[in-house]
Amino acid sequence: MKLQKPKGTQDILPRESVKWQYVEEFARTTFGKYNYQEIRTPMFEHYEVISRSVGDTTDIVSKEMYDFYDKGDRHITLRPEGTAPVVRSYVENKLFAPEVQKPVKLYYMGAMFRYERPQAGRLREFHQIGVECFGSSNPATDVETIAMAAQFFREIGIQNITLHLNTLGSPASRAAYREALIAYLTPLKETLSKDSQRRLEENPLRVLDSKEKEDKLAVANAPSILDYLDEESREHFDSVQKMLATLGIDYVIDTNMVRGLDYYNHTIFEFITEVSGSELTICAGGRYDGLVEYFDGPATPGFGFGMGIERLLLVLEGQGVTLPVAEELDVYVAVLGEQVNGEALAIVQALRNQGFKAERDYLGRKLKAQFKSADQLRATALITLGESELEQGRVTLKNNQTREEIQVSLEQILTDFAPVFEKVTK
Ligand code: ATP
Ligand code: MG
Repeated sequence: MKLQKPKGTQDILPRESVKWQYVEEFARTTFGKYNYQEIRTPMFEHYEVISRSVGDTTDIVSKEMYDFYDKGDRHITLRPEGTAPVVRSYVENKLFAPEVQKPVKLYYMGAMFRYERPQAGRLREFHQIGVECFGSSNPATDVETIAMAAQFFREIGIQNITLHLNTLGSPASRAAYREALIAYLTPLKETLSKDSQRRLEENPLRVLDSKEKEDKLAVANAPSILDYLDEESREHFDSVQKMLATLGIDYVIDTNMVRGLDYYNHTIFEFITEVSGSELTICAGGRYDGLVEYFDGPATPGFGFGMGIERLLLVLEGQGVTLPVAEELDVYVAVLGEQVNGEALAIVQALRNQGFKAERDYLGRKLKAQFKSADQLRATALITLGESELEQGRVTLKNNQTREEIQVSLEQILTDFAPVFEKVTK
């Protein structure tokens, strides 16, 4: 047995985790401005919560599920996406009740699991930040949610990002389009990839979404959903486009974009960005007006998106965006001799209790090595503590950049450090 991480997973070490925290905090702040609140649902669900809502014939359900039977013989799956679990929770907790303010705006962040072939930006355990908005069929909700993602990407510093927009229309429009697409693709069946030949039978819209070259070629002249929209669907889509224009949000209409999940209708979108010459979708979502009903809740419109944190970080890195995450230390205490071990501990504790970030030497190393640590930890100030300092009840407090130093009583450090810290670092 290999004692290594499973294929397609990642350890997120401190150098990276500070970036994760930054991104997560950035999302919380941005979403908070739009009155979103956090929801946390289980990491695993009953298989059925995912299978039919996401779609039995989608890649996610047919190939990528991490499912198993637990010791009570329940069919369980690790969640592959966030929307179905949140909708399940919305219904189970009766958030549709009249006393709950509508729309209900929820965000989540957490691990998702898909059995995929790992590659750059594609893992088996990955993380999404997502939002779901329940109870508004107003196209302004579509646009607000898209605008929120746009604001997030703009403010965090992503460049060259394009909003791709499409509609799947009402169920009736979609059904009409499905027929037209089957009629178009059937004569081309032999030219399609094996997967898409199967999709043509099961779920023809998915052929449009295929990443295979031969499929892309075949669908290049496919009929457009836009020619099959009923009036309501057309009006909704027109309103979305008008409002996007009003807000100055650029977009391209991409009628071959259908998304990898079956529950969408009306507006769907992706934010696609460029990194080292290739296109990468970092955020995707849309409207899902039938999903709450599917979970036995009252008819309730929904709109949401999910973005991949790994892909977001990949893009930021690829575009040379550095996040402001440099960590600093307020004080490093250099320790000279075993005899002051306990007092050194008392000092760092006192500093921490006064709100400072403090570290010390624990290893009895030479002073030179300790000073090097102070530099590497980006310490702002340095205290050196030895036996003579202890006897005199005074230490040297040094500015670790300018090397300026002052004498300070131990008492002062233990009880009221802020003024002397300010004095030496101002
Ligand atoms: P793709 O077409 O790239 O497989 P998808 O349609 O399966 O994406 P969604 O289910 O819409 O993706 O998920 C939303 C976002 O989650 C994606 O845009 C991407 O940023 C991220 N994502 C999806 N699958 C993975 C994965 N296996 N590893 C890392 N991130 C992922
Ligand atoms: Mg996928």
